[in-house]
Amino acid sequence: MPDLVTHSGVAYLIYKLFSRRRYLIIFLAGTILPDVITRIPYFLVESGYDWLFVPLHTPVGMTLVCLWLSYFFEECERKPVFVNLWLGSLLHLGMDLLQYGIIPQHLLLFPFSLKRYEIALFSAEASMYIIPLWLILIVGVELVLRYRGRTINAGRH
Ligand SMILES: [Zn+2]
Repeated sequence: MPDLVTHSGVAYLIYKLFSRRRYLIIFLAGTILPDVITRIPYFLVESGYDWLFVPLHTPVGMTLVCLWLSYFFEECERKPVFVNLWLGSLLHLGMDLLQYGIIPQHLLLFPFSLKRYEIALFSAEASMYIIPLWLILIVGVELVLRYRGRTINAGRH
């Protein structure tokens, strides 16, 4: 898995460039959700049972988790919350596909197939080296968007 900073950095930039800001936090939560719900249980359950959480790190598993989580919101918010959580989680799974490990890890078609997939463009550790790049890009994009917002608003007066 790319680290959670890389997942969040990519998600932040995509969201800022292509979407409204209202559900940014939900989208970001969706991008870290697959690792949070599958890694935290490793510390809580006895070793040997951790495979129980592997199906949650799949498109079908994340769809069900996002659907369940969206029901904690008001009825009028459920659809956009679900869509943003789900798209964020799919972005996460897509980014995970790009890395390679010792063995392919991603059960894309679970429960219909147990075949594991990977695209294998970079190692699991490679994303750690570009964390400063994400932080610089995020600050840069934020500054440009704020500057553009100020100049657009100044032009209206
Ligand atoms: Zn992951």
